[in-house]
Amino acid sequence: MLKATLTLKLKEWRGQRWLRSQAARQQLLTNGLVLMLHRIVEDEDEAALPHRNELCVAASTFDRFLGWLASEFDCVALTDLLEQPAGGKQPRVALTFDDGWEDNARLALPLLQKHQLTASVFVTTDFPGNSTTFWWESIGERLFNLNCPTQDPVLLQALADAGMPVPEGVRRAGLCPQQRSFHLQHYLASLKTLSDDTLISLAALAASGQPQAMDWPAIRQLEQSGHFRFGAHGASHALLDRLSPQELSRELDHSLAALAREVRQPLPIYCYPNGNYNAEVQAALRQRHIPWALSTRPGLVTGTADPLGIPRICLSQRAAARPGLLGWRIRMGAKAGRNP
Ligand SMILES: [Zn+2]
Repeated sequence: MLKATLTLKLKEWRGQRWLRSQAARQQLLTNGLVLMLHRIVEDEDEAALPHRNELCVAASTFDRFLGWLASEFDCVALTDLLEQPAGGKQPRVALTFDDGWEDNARLALPLLQKHQLTASVFVTTDFPGNSTTFWWESIGERLFNLNCPTQDPVLLQALADAGMPVPEGVRRAGLCPQQRSFHLQHYLASLKTLSDDTLISLAALAASGQPQAMDWPAIRQLEQSGHFRFGAHGASHALLDRLSPQELSRELDHSLAALAREVRQPLPIYCYPNGNYNAEVQAALRQRHIPWALSTRPGLVTGTADPLGIPRICLSQRAAARPGLLGWRIRMGAKAGRNP
């Protein structure tokens, strides 16, 4: 644990130093930055737990972060950034949220209004208006929140039957929340090898019954506020590169039709669930006249970036709380983009 803390401190220090350097300024002035977020939650300590850190930012942290971002960057609409990644007096940044979580309306909107900023949300279009849930969240929170996870024999047995028994570190009641969360993060990552159908049925077993996604009226209200625009992030959140041509067509057509039906001005930008895509997925988007698509690959948006594989930088709770860590992520992403 001490070694991990020291590594984080070192990354933060290096990231801070890089952000202040002439090289960083030059790189950020000549390339655009797209930030990727998912959820905004109430509590900073809860958001910073390892299994939530990459997907959650606390509202109070996001508030301070937006103040910092607006002082360092020109925060622009995503379409403006993609059309012109650079060229202003300040580096350009655009904010994106994946999935369409209900907390985006409840907690992110007031903060975007306060700082007079805009963002783009990419909605998994089968989710609004019902209690379909994201498996990572449902299984993760169910296992984490039980005082004694062995009290949920049905879910534990189903996970074991799927070949993924819940490991001792997640189940041990004596461990501190930080340690259990650390074990849970690794366990949840290992579940990504299961099929979409298996994950959907496990998520249904673990779901709390509360909707996780915004409904369409809330989405339309957000669009009307002028602070959000919306694009598609799959229909069922299936990983697009694993689908048959027929299934891929269904995912793309259903999600694009839902957006066209439900919002006034859908974005001409697709967002790959889990960042998964291949040449067939890109060709299918081209056929549907979608000019841009967002990946989860870290990097800056260069003038020569593949428009159907736009890189982003993930804004975790820790990176939002300590911009030096974000600087580190941008620096490493920019390096990876230069040497693919
Ligand atoms: Zn997603």
